[in-house]
Formats: sequence, C-alpha cells, structure tokens
Amino acid sequence: MDRGDDGRRPVTEDNWRTQRLELDDQTLREWDATVLAVGEDGIVLDRSAFYPGGGGQPPDHGVLLWGGVQTAIVGARKGDDLYLIPAEGDLVPAAGTAVSGAIADDRRTALMRTHSGLHVLCGVVFRDYGSLVTGGNMEPFSARMDFDLPELPDGFRTAVEEACNAEIVAGRPIAVRVLPRDDAFAIPDIIRTATNLVPPEVKEVRIVDIVGLDQQADGGTHVASTAAIGRIEVVKIENKGKGFRRLRIKITD
Ligand SMILES: [Zn+2]
Repeated sequence: MDRGDDGRRPVTEDNWRTQRLELDDQTLREWDATVLAVGEDGIVLDRSAFYPGGGGQPPDHGVLLWGGVQTAIVGARKGDDLYLIPAEGDLVPAAGTAVSGAIADDRRTALMRTHSGLHVLCGVVFRDYGSLVTGGNMEPFSARMDFDLPELPDGFRTAVEEACNAEIVAGRPIAVRVLPRDDAFAIPDIIRTATNLVPPEVKEVRIVDIVGLDQQADGGTHVASTAAIGRIEVVKIENKGKGFRRLRIKITD
C-alpha cells in the first residue's frame, strides 16, 4: 500500500543510494552512517533505519548526531533518492560527514503496534466477512481502515473487536520475508487491498505474515508477535457511501 507523495505512480527505490536497515531489522534504533549528499530536498545517508513513510504508516522522527551537533529529523521525502528532512533551522552535516542516527523510539514502537493492529483487523474482517481494504492510515495508537462492506452485519463492531483481541491473546508470530514477485503473487489473497499497489517494476515483494491469520505484501514496520500489539478498540464505524465502511480503532495497553 505505497504511493508517491504526489499521487503519481509509485516512486521506485531501485536507484536510491541509501541502504534501508529497518526493512531487515525493525528493532534497530541507533546506527552509524555517512552523509552522501545534502541540499534543499534534505539529507541522503549511505545507510538508514528511518522508515520513510508508506503503506499508511507515517515516517519516523529522530536525530542525527555529528561533531557535538544534533540535527532533528522530522520526516522523509521520496524522490530519486531517499531524503531525510531536517527540522527547520537546525544545522545540517556536510557531505562526507560521519554521523550517528537515532530513531524516536516511542513513536516508532507505537506505529509498529498500530500497524500490526491494522493487519490483525484486516485479517479478521477478510476472514470473517470476506471484505477487502480500500484504504487506511495511522498515527501513533490510532488508525482507520476502509472496507468494501455494503451490508453491516448485526453486532459487527463488537464481533470484530472481540475477534481481533482473541488474535492478540493468541500471540501469533509476525514474520517478514522477501519473495520473488511471481512466488509472492502465487500466495492466495496476498493482495488484500481492492487494487494491487505493488508497482510492476518491483521484482521482489516483502511479505508480512501474521502466522495463521493474514499474509500481505507490505513495506511497513511491525512488532514480532500479535501479543505485543496491546488491545484493539473499535471506536467508530462510519458509512462512507457506495458500500464503503470506515473503521476507526485505537490501540491501548
Ligand atoms: Zn501494512
């Protein structure tokens, strides 16, 4: 579920010079790097664990430390490179500078719990009602997801909330693996969104697997087990017309 910021065809990452550490290790919070470039678009590092946003998950915040200076990172921009956006007015390191990167842990951990909670919600609604997702987004501990759901069954809200929390209590492992495109699309129902958003030029697909409940092509960051999500509360269901329902959830401890 990834689109370029300007709504055009998804930006491919193939030519990004930054090695994305968070795709392999979602628990990483600090690392060393070198600045490759800096300019109006932002700062380009050779390696980074900042999640740049996508799939409804907003970008990470954090800092770069260099020569006794701290540069706050408040977002990311995807273009021909992966640009980290410094806070307005902060000093920025020149190209070639060695830096230490650190992610704002509370925010990232909250987003990982929330994102995994959305996958549980998506898995439960698809399994129990056969509905596909048409959109979603999140902030730390609150999120919304839209479903193609013409009829709202009686007791839907309570049933979904209870089913989601049963999956959390079950403590299902959440595994991430990368598959060749054809192998990935051979997995039934791997695309849970109403429209397939994986760009045709993407040769390898990252799969997020809530073992026994839900498998999806996904680029976001997740906790290692549903048990780490917390509790899911369905706070509201909105009728978005044309048979679409918006579920608003919050994640609590
Ligand atoms: Zn996702």
